[in-house]
Amino acid sequence: MNIMWFRRDLRLADNESLSRASGNNAEVLPCLVVDPWLFEWREISPARLRFWFDSVQDLERQLRTKGSRLILLSGQSAKEICSLSKQLLTEGHKPQLFFNRDMQEESDRQRDAQVIQFCQETKIPCKVGLSNFLQTVHRWDDWYKEYYDYVHQPVHEIPAFINTPEISDLPEITIEELAAKYGHYWSAPKVYFPGGESAATEVMQSFLVDRFPGYHWKISRPWLTQQGATSHLSPHFAWGTISIRTVYQQAETRAKQFAPESKQAFSLKAFRLRLRWQCSFTQRFYLTPEIAYQNRFREFNEWYQDAPLSEEQQQLFQAWQDGETGFPLIDASMRQLKSMGWMNFRMRAMCATFLTINCGISWHHGALHFMQHLVDGDLAIDHWQWQMQAGITNPLSETFRIYNPAKNLAEKDPELEFVRFWVPELRGYSLEEITQGVHLSEAFYPEPIVDLQQTRKVNGKVVADLRKQVRERLERTKDLSIS
Ligand SMILES: Cc1cc2nc3c(=O)[nH]c(=O)nc-3n(C[C@H](O)[C@H](O)[C@H](O)COP(=O)(O)OP(=O)(O)OC[C@H]3O[C@@H](n4cnc5c(N)ncnc54)[C@H](O)[C@@H]3O)c2cc1C
Repeated sequence: MNIMWFRRDLRLADNESLSRASGNNAEVLPCLVVDPWLFEWREISPARLRFWFDSVQDLERQLRTKGSRLILLSGQSAKEICSLSKQLLTEGHKPQLFFNRDMQEESDRQRDAQVIQFCQETKIPCKVGLSNFLQTVHRWDDWYKEYYDYVHQPVHEIPAFINTPEISDLPEITIEELAAKYGHYWSAPKVYFPGGESAATEVMQSFLVDRFPGYHWKISRPWLTQQGATSHLSPHFAWGTISIRTVYQQAETRAKQFAPESKQAFSLKAFRLRLRWQCSFTQRFYLTPEIAYQNRFREFNEWYQDAPLSEEQQQLFQAWQDGETGFPLIDASMRQLKSMGWMNFRMRAMCATFLTINCGISWHHGALHFMQHLVDGDLAIDHWQWQMQAGITNPLSETFRIYNPAKNLAEKDPELEFVRFWVPELRGYSLEEITQGVHLSEAFYPEPIVDLQQTRKVNGKVVADLRKQVRERLERTKDLSIS
């Protein structure tokens, strides 16, 4: 009997392990372990947990349409899976274990190693598949070729039927018990991103049919992206309710309906490029998991520390978190994050450079706040992106970008649609009035908490000098790998 262990691959389509486990009408127990760790993890957000719960419910529904069901185990993941395997072994069911390689935290690797070791000791066959492209051994030179080979391979079909026998004495819990036990972790006044494979397919289709035109220029505009100018697939990738390969292939097929030089083809190309970035961040993280919490380069260890903030820093940090910095575009974005659990790329990057460079607060604090609110929080992308925006990564380049929130307001939200939506205090003011500071004496809106130019000059120089030190060391030692 085969055990299919779902983790961050909550889908039936293009699921390698499910496809293999259910092949030849083999008996399969589709299982998911509800691990208390997930609810206690300091990097989790209520938005992400609620999305996960939708996705688990949808997975259960999808499995039922195939004659199967989802078996929910509750407890520490490795222990529960080993214990179930052992029970089936003892009862003479000849178990085999299937799961897709995945990692959110470094401890996940230990979890998988523990399960694999258990299988070796008990001689239970264990087959590990891929949910998305991921090399296990560092071959960065071949990475692009292997990635493109992978995304062009045929997807795994949804099994027509999944043969799940009735086994009476499984230590399982019901969806209702799961909701009753953990539901308070994910209460949300409004759901912006429904989870589940069915929702993922709808989101992909609506993007590729209607929403994608103009993607390449709309991508930086916060109001248009909030309305759906980008795909909004990121939470689905974070829980694996759709595979990147499926989306990649559908986007490529759609692009073939347009002339190669057309704007539509260009938009879809820009979109496919970002799908590759998703996998490349996961890859970096898999190979250098320490980057989740440590500076990528030691030269930054004194400047960026995961240490308690001074009183003055705490005030700046609080204002940033609450969207009360006195910079309209930062405030609108930070309030959007709190309500929707989402921001577009440019606003994430701008809020990150504002905190790290203008406020001089370590990326550790900002990255954690993001993870505790994002619906698509993915440690691999979030923490590396924070390091990137803080000026740590890519030191071989002599420049790094510090976003100017005032300039971005004029360029990316000139009609103030985004700012007025999230910062009602500023409704009624024009861009010109805001630029001249008219609102400061009239509206209940804070004065800017920092001097943009001065902080940029002082802190920007510190970071630029540290980058130079890293660059010189790397050139000296010729260690130019993952940077
Ligand atoms: C400081 C910071 C933190 C971030 N944290 C996360 C995070 O925790 N989780 C996350 O999924 N993305 C993160 N991003 C990347 C990016 O902002 C989001 O992926 C994107 O905004 C999601 O919206 P979308 O699905 O509509 O994107 P689309 O524009 O439709 O892109 C399609 C997909 O490509 C991938 N993608 C897009 N941009 C990037 C990027 N810059 N890097 C890596 N993959 C990308 C995502 O999987 C996304 O769903 C972060 C960016 C920054 C600057």
